[in-house]
Amino acid sequence: MKKETKKLDREVRTRIAPSPTGPAHIGTARTALFNYLFAKNPPGGGKGKFILRIEDTDKERSLQKWTDEVIEQLKWLGIEWDEGPDIGGTFGPYKQSQRAEIYKKYLEKLFTEDKAYYCFCTEEELENKRQEQMSRGLAPKYDGACTRLSAEIIKKNLTEKKPSVIRFRVENKKIKFNDLIRGDVEFDAGLLGDVVIAKNFENPLYHFAVVVDDFEMKISHVIRGEEHLSNTPRQILLQKALGFNTPIYAHLPLMLNMDKSKMSKRQGDVAVSDYHNNGYLPEALINFMVLLGWNPGTEKEIFSLSQLKKEFSVEKVQKAGAIFNVTRLDFLNGFYIREKDIKKLAELCKPYLKEAGLLITGQVSENTLEKIIEVSKTRMKKLLDIVELSDFFFKENLSFDKNLLKWSKMEDTDVKEALLLCLPDGRQATNKKSLGDLNPKKGEWTVQKIKEVLEDAAVEFNKQKNYPGKNRGFLLWPLRVALSGKQFSPSPFEIAEILGREKTLERINEAIKLL
Ligand code: GLU
Repeated sequence: MKKETKKLDREVRTRIAPSPTGPAHIGTARTALFNYLFAKNPPGGGKGKFILRIEDTDKERSLQKWTDEVIEQLKWLGIEWDEGPDIGGTFGPYKQSQRAEIYKKYLEKLFTEDKAYYCFCTEEELENKRQEQMSRGLAPKYDGACTRLSAEIIKKNLTEKKPSVIRFRVENKKIKFNDLIRGDVEFDAGLLGDVVIAKNFENPLYHFAVVVDDFEMKISHVIRGEEHLSNTPRQILLQKALGFNTPIYAHLPLMLNMDKSKMSKRQGDVAVSDYHNNGYLPEALINFMVLLGWNPGTEKEIFSLSQLKKEFSVEKVQKAGAIFNVTRLDFLNGFYIREKDIKKLAELCKPYLKEAGLLITGQVSENTLEKIIEVSKTRMKKLLDIVELSDFFFKENLSFDKNLLKWSKMEDTDVKEALLLCLPDGRQATNKKSLGDLNPKKGEWTVQKIKEVLEDAAVEFNKQKNYPGKNRGFLLWPLRVALSGKQFSPSPFEIAEILGREKTLERINEAIKLL
């Protein structure tokens, strides 16, 4: 299957056309990103335009809050549009619910040319026919019962207000198109049956509205998910019936779960807002989403949005399904978290710490907060992790099982001895400074000094106890747990420095009491 890269004689215009019937889906964001990138760096050079259009023909299920949400989340991701419902543009309005007049004009044209007709079949009749066709082993399709109703019957039915819809006469022929990703595609339109394109003249449905809008908004490339591939032949037939150009199509590969099953909107975390709220960074999501289908052909994995604007090309989009690998997302997010300037990272972490009741205004200085985040960030996969990783810095009292204090086969008394070595005068016997002897006023309460003293004490402790010489865990593990209450945490040096001398000694004493 060959793919064509035609030079276009018209401006490149792409669009994202979400239906605001639920939270913005990660699949929508990915499609938006590919359309955006394509417009930023079109194959023939120059710059294209990217448009946001809200497809709210489903009046019962469309809500303003979902429109607001998709706008908010796309903006958060840094995907910006040149025309859209919030900013207007030459081809507005950009919400289908505000374009009824435009659709009506084209519906009338189809009617006048006998390319569309009223269908009065009831749901029940249609269902029975479907069942009957399937029982004969046929693919269900509309049987054309209302295709040639007489003008009188139509008039009578309408006067009686018999429920009806508008159907489009789908020609019985093969439809071919060249997809930028999938190459030549061919469908037998004869299998489709006449498609419902509107409830009535005021209420068009998806297939019709999308075709009219793509034409009216001069969309040159329709880049969308593979789930729309089977919609394309119907839409091409509608374009032909209306005398429109057919845009160039590119159907993005499906997004698959780790087990290669198809990701559905109803499954778990697929809302962009969930990723946003849990502390995934827009940079990470952008990087992750572009790799859901785009294959740069190198080992390189890190791409910023500005790099992508230059490097993205649709030729490198794969056909095969793209696996949604959360481990990769976490890796990328961790990478971008560590890349952040510490002040910015602190700002990003604050809401999570406040929400968890840990950060109370004025209790912790900015400087301390930055230090806490600096020592915790290596373990962060997402911003929310800061809560779990750093809570002990903020808490008044820790609670943990005393057995956690034990390294290797240490007994209660061994742990106690280790901790006592850290208290003031703890190393009097050898005439050396203990942790508690360090004086912050003399500038001694630094990671460096704390480390020196503790490492020396650890060696001494091992000798005293006949522990294997190099294993500093016999002193440092109990101390670290005493200060953090956790199995995993930053080093005791870093924690002690941040907690300050007073709090450090208090925690050591509290731990001793447990033994
Ligand atoms: N409104 C459709 C959707 O939400 C998009 C249609 C299209 O891209 O053609 O899936």
